[in-house]
Amino acid sequence: RLLELYQQAVRSLLLRPVKLNDQVELSDHVLLRNKLCDELQRLITELDFTGPVGEKLAEIRAQLLHGVALEALPQLCLGLIELIIEGARQERRESHLFLTSLNDSISSVHLRLNESLDEGRAMHEQHQRAGDEIHRHLDSISQQLELSPPYEQLKQNIGQSLSVLQTLLLERNQLLAREQRFLHDMAAMEQKINLMKEETSEYKKRIAQQKHKLLLDSLTQVFNRATFDERLDLEYKRWLRYQAPLCLAIIDIDHFKSINDRFGHLAGDKALKVIARAMSRTLRETDFIARYGGDEFVVLLPGVDASNSLTPLEKLRNVVKSIPFRFKDDRVEITISIGMTLFRNGDSAMEAFERADQALYEAKNDGRDRIVQHV
Ligand code: GH3
Ligand code: MG
Repeated sequence: RLLELYQQAVRSLLLRPVKLNDQVELSDHVLLRNKLCDELQRLITELDFTGPVGEKLAEIRAQLLHGVALEALPQLCLGLIELIIEGARQERRESHLFLTSLNDSISSVHLRLNESLDEGRAMHEQHQRAGDEIHRHLDSISQQLELSPPYEQLKQNIGQSLSVLQTLLLERNQLLAREQRFLHDMAAMEQKINLMKEETSEYKKRIAQQKHKLLLDSLTQVFNRATFDERLDLEYKRWLRYQAPLCLAIIDIDHFKSINDRFGHLAGDKALKVIARAMSRTLRETDFIARYGGDEFVVLLPGVDASNSLTPLEKLRNVVKSIPFRFKDDRVEITISIGMTLFRNGDSAMEAFERADQALYEAKNDGRDRIVQHV
């Protein structure tokens, strides 16, 4: 999409009017410039980079909302492409670093685990050997006692066995110390494994968050256009299958540009967030709302037919209208226009969408702050 916008900017630069007194062409030129600026800034809101890249993107978006000369747009598009590449590179670097460090940790734990297993086996064998020795010497002592050889002989034999048993006892103490070290090493390894587990679960959480973020519009936190496209497809298939009514509405804020012009685009952004949140709270859980782009939202109301479609939409209209906006101490009322339709037999999803869009167009032409239904 960015490339398409770049091409459009270049094309319109090449075709721009040379005669400065040609008012019609000039106003077309301005319209086109505004459209490109608007589409580019919308595109930026769909990107989600943090750090310096995210900050630079936000700066460019602010410039676009302010209005950028057509001459500067191609260069700006190229700058955006570079930033996106840089952002992707940065993310890749971060993932690479994480995976390398995780791999190193796993290798070192693996090595130490092998060493520990060898050590454990060696200690076990030593224990067994010592146990066998002790048994052997105890047996020999009891045999000596049963045989009752002459006292001197008995003393010498038992004395030998006792001295071996003493040595074994010493060895056993050394073995205990070795076991102690072994347990200590095992505890350190367990700690390392736990740390690794924490790191990976943190990473997993980040991936899950990013997956969730991909579904949302970064400014308003309602679903984004890509999620809407998927949901529309799903609801459409359900509708084809079950034939339960399905209502589609497109909502556009009235004269929103003037909010930006009068109070700055930051105030505009804030208003968009507040309006999106208010609308999303008003709907039922089974309803669906997404930001379609700019100041436009789309709503899907499954199970809603001609007899009950007005209630939820009127509620949306009234909720937005009654938000007590205050900019620079001015009390400002913001209204919305809504075009809605119900899916009809033989409809494609696109046909229904276009009908709702047509209804919205009529709502704007009829004076705004109203709902037009094409049921
Ligand atoms: P209309 O009643 O005909 O809808 O008038 P409008 O001024 O709302 O016109 P339109 O819907 O065509 O233009 C929407 C404007 O919304 C254009 C742009 O300046 C502004 N806009 C779009 N996206 C954003 C955004 O993310 N933040 C801000 N602050 N303004 C935006
Ligand atoms: Mg509008």
